[in-house]
Amino acid sequence: MPRWGRADLHMHTTVSDGWPTPSQLVEHAARRAGLDLIAITDHDTIEGARRAADYAARRTKLHVIVGEEVSSRDGHIIGLFLEHRVKPGLSAAATIHAIHEPVLADAAAGAHREPRAWSGLAGGRARF
Ligand SMILES: [Zn+2]
Repeated sequence: MPRWGRADLHMHTTVSDGWPTPSQLVEHAARRAGLDLIAITDHDTIEGARRAADYAARRTKLHVIVGEEVSSRDGHIIGLFLEHRVKPGLSAAATIHAIHEPVLADAAAGAHREPRAWSGLAGGRARF
């Protein structure tokens, strides 16, 4: 049976314009804020999210989603569950396509995966 947890799905680190380092953010989210799940969505990079995910896996029970806040020509778009950086400066449609590219490739190969990206997603309660 799923349980309810607490999540923040839009967080930044010093890798872009946030105040904490990736490890400081994990420590704060897990031990002070009492969150179960976070998505790190630095501007135009997934490096901080990768570092945080590695740190969290070694030292906490916090789940970290690797994300990116991509600066498209039409505004910022949040991509989640990313395995690659999406480059900035594309149109909104091209950015969303690039975020979903691995999923589309998997679908073509007959594999099923959950969607990896949502645009305009805000923090809130997550069920997992
Ligand atoms: Zn942001």
